Amino acid sequence: MQSKKQIAIDAVLKAMRLCEQVQAEMVSTDAIQKRDRSPVTVADFGSQALICKAIGDAFPDDVVVAEEDAQALKENAALLSRVTSYVDGFTKKRVSTDTVCEWIDRGSGDVGKSFWTLDPIDGTKGFLRRDQYAIALAYIVDGIVQLGVLGCPNLAYRLDAMDVERGCLFVAARGEGTHLYTTTGDFLEQVCVSEETHRFAESFESSHGDSDAHSKIAEALGITESPVRMDSQAKYGIVSRGEASLYIRLPNPAFPDYRECIWDHAAGMIVVQEAGGTVTDANGAPLNFLTGKRMHENRGIVATNGKLHQRVLKVVSSQLSVVS
Ligand code: AMP
Ligand code: MG
Repeated sequence: MQSKKQIAIDAVLKAMRLCEQVQAEMVSTDAIQKRDRSPVTVADFGSQALICKAIGDAFPDDVVVAEEDAQALKENAALLSRVTSYVDGFTKKRVSTDTVCEWIDRGSGDVGKSFWTLDPIDGTKGFLRRDQYAIALAYIVDGIVQLGVLGCPNLAYRLDAMDVERGCLFVAARGEGTHLYTTTGDFLEQVCVSEETHRFAESFESSHGDSDAHSKIAEALGITESPVRMDSQAKYGIVSRGEASLYIRLPNPAFPDYRECIWDHAAGMIVVQEAGGTVTDANGAPLNFLTGKRMHENRGIVATNGKLHQRVLKVVSSQLSVVS
């Protein structure tokens, strides 16, 4: 696992730099809409290409289950050329457009006995708003997340401090704790959840959860502070650092058939667990990463400091009767 960890860290750090470059120079044509109408950008494709290349070079037999594929790029020469020019900046030899597509499509593996899962940009909407986003990479064996590397380029070292430096990399390996690094790979601290009950975190995008229910639950728990609304798995990061006691994501009633994607939670989950917290779905069931790209057996997400977990689940079940 040690060598997997180092390869994953180096790959995510590289992808973070690519994302920051794209964000600094972004033009309107750098983002397109996918079939499901969600946005995808030059940075999503570039990040996936770099990370899949790094894993493929180091571990040619490893399977990667990633969010994007190269189909839309193959139909958009201008976009592919933009992606290629960014990726090219991170490779020793000049890279062709075909090679970039090949690297991206290394992420088209299937869930199985052991696999990586990658969200090259989690919270693309946050990325486009220049808000929070994350590069999320996890390694799963027999359904258990063994390693999570979560890069949050826009997350401050400390959420509430004024004028602090930004760019956080959370690294969690099973049994080793969660460690925080800078974007240059310098070690900052081992992080730990907070014992106290203070504020909660939820999605910035209200359609990704049930914010009315979240507020009611917070009220029932005696939480009075206003929530942290944030895009991406950076929410797991702030729970792991004790900056929120709870991250809650109940299914939005307008989308009853929505099922969470594995790459949206695997890395974040282990980051919280290794910092001393607990993560389940809204019914208290463990997250099942073996049902395919989507977690068909789970509904919603509850991530806490651990201490609060059973109380939250109880309140969730009494407020909503059952999340079915
Ligand atoms: P967040 O930034 O935490 O809101 O999470 C972003 C992720 O939410 C995206 O990667 C999508 O996969 C996911 N998403 C999209 N629609 C929904 C929905 N209706 N409910 C929950 N999650 C969603
Ligand atoms: Mg995502």
